[in-house]
Amino acid sequence: MQGRMMFQPLLISSFIEHAAQYHSDTAVISKNTDLSMTHTTWSKVANNAKRFAKALNSLGLQAHHRIATIAWNNHRHLEAWYAISGNQMICHTINPRLFPEQLIFIINDAQDRVILFDKTFLPLIVAVKAHIPLVEHFICLSDYDTDVIEALPEAQFYDVLVTKQNSEFNWPIFDETTASSLCYTSGTTGNPKGALYSHRSTALHSMAIALPDSMGLSAKDVMMPVVPMFHVNAWGTPYAAAMVGSTLVLPGPGLDGTSLVNLIDQYQVSIALGVPTIWQGLLTAAKNMGSQLSSMKRNVVGGSACPASMIHTFKDVYNCDTIHAWGMTETSPLGTAAQLKTKHLGLSQEEQTYVRLSQGRPPFGVSLRLCDQEQGTNTIPSDGKQTGNLQIKGHWIIDSYFGKDQSALTIDGWFDTGDIATVDMDGYLRISDRAKDLIKSGGEWISSVELENIALDFTNDISMAAVIAAKHPKWDERPILIAVKHAESQLTEAEILEYYAKKVAKWQIPDEVIFVQSIPLNGTGKILKKELREQFEHILLEE
Ligand code: ADP
Repeated sequence: MQGRMMFQPLLISSFIEHAAQYHSDTAVISKNTDLSMTHTTWSKVANNAKRFAKALNSLGLQAHHRIATIAWNNHRHLEAWYAISGNQMICHTINPRLFPEQLIFIINDAQDRVILFDKTFLPLIVAVKAHIPLVEHFICLSDYDTDVIEALPEAQFYDVLVTKQNSEFNWPIFDETTASSLCYTSGTTGNPKGALYSHRSTALHSMAIALPDSMGLSAKDVMMPVVPMFHVNAWGTPYAAAMVGSTLVLPGPGLDGTSLVNLIDQYQVSIALGVPTIWQGLLTAAKNMGSQLSSMKRNVVGGSACPASMIHTFKDVYNCDTIHAWGMTETSPLGTAAQLKTKHLGLSQEEQTYVRLSQGRPPFGVSLRLCDQEQGTNTIPSDGKQTGNLQIKGHWIIDSYFGKDQSALTIDGWFDTGDIATVDMDGYLRISDRAKDLIKSGGEWISSVELENIALDFTNDISMAAVIAAKHPKWDERPILIAVKHAESQLTEAEILEYYAKKVAKWQIPDEVIFVQSIPLNGTGKILKKELREQFEHILLEE
């Protein structure tokens, strides 16, 4: 017997319709590419989304066509997102920090028909244009601009296209499993591969991230996604913001600490999201500027492990609760978020921090398991002690990559994350490493992440730390630490190694500390260990 309730497909257009109807005057504040500010509202965003959807139709684009964006977090980008997916087309967000060859690869792989771009990225477009023959329209996210026309005569302009249309438009209704957006993995583990999200997966994921034990989003929040819209859809926040009707502050190109602190203070941001490197910059700036970040209640840290010192500083100095979260492109991204349970409330501050430092536990909708080998099916108990290969399953987890016929799953239907972790009985996840970053010394595994955290927690002098495997004649591999210290720091290798001796077994202490000026990062701010290995892996053999 069937239930007798209404059925409505879960469509992205319904998020923006909801925001336009019930949060019409709630602000969307945007820093533009020219650094000017735009104050708009959810109802105006929704109107422009309809007008741009009509503009896409007038350009001859059809359902399922891929429309790429190379843009900052700003209001035009937001409107275009809703226009594209709402109109049954596929929004392909591209990371502008990719190398030109990678950019060409993914534009061609996705068969993008249109590229929407911010003026900042005009040189990039001009450089790759000859290699992306399928692209029919280049649309600059601005008003008419002669500089753009000079460099790219065929360019069209978002504002011009939108102005030509009115907002009388009914969003099409279609199957909720239809594709809505496309993100490529950041390629730290090989060639980028596309994760193709659906309207349904996006809707369920957005509801899950808004839950109190995830990010706890509400219409009382002023939310600032610093994480770019091209990094797994800004972790889903622009969707969830429309669902709950929160105020949005979109930081545009200004991702440096000072610009972010200014936005937080000026617009009273209550929750912001970003990768650890963003937060490092923000904390330094807040200290230098004497800001109390007094409006900030929560900050979400994900993408790489959050150092303990960061959780402490946010809590002790700024009275802000850090939510550590884990996920990946293939998981939409939210897999887990670290929030306490009732049983933790009586614990000491230090014990609570220990819980918060985990990558967190899954919301309803995803499950985790550990297996004894990569892509394996032999499970290991989730007892909080035994480490295994982390696998995940759920409503917003990938099934197969865009354009690939074969399944991305194990034979019994789980997605292997490539992460090595423990999971406890409550589902709290602790990532110990990525499978390929583990160091195997004399047959014993050493976690690079654990050693990096020790270095980062030791002193504020170290701003970035990476531990990699260096080849060793006797032990096969040994850990070495590569660190960036502040210009005026007097810190020595001996001091760091002495500290390690107090924290880990002797055989886990890095063999060498190398101070460098900078560490290479990928497009989403993650350390490129592959490059570090290429540069330093022979260093112990040479000595
Ligand atoms: P890529 O897989 O190409 O690096 P993603 O952005 O999808 O791009 O990265 C996902 C990976 O990032 C995870 O598998 C995990 O290794 C790492 N990661 C994400 N969040 C965290 C976190 N909170 N702590 C530790 N590692 C994390």
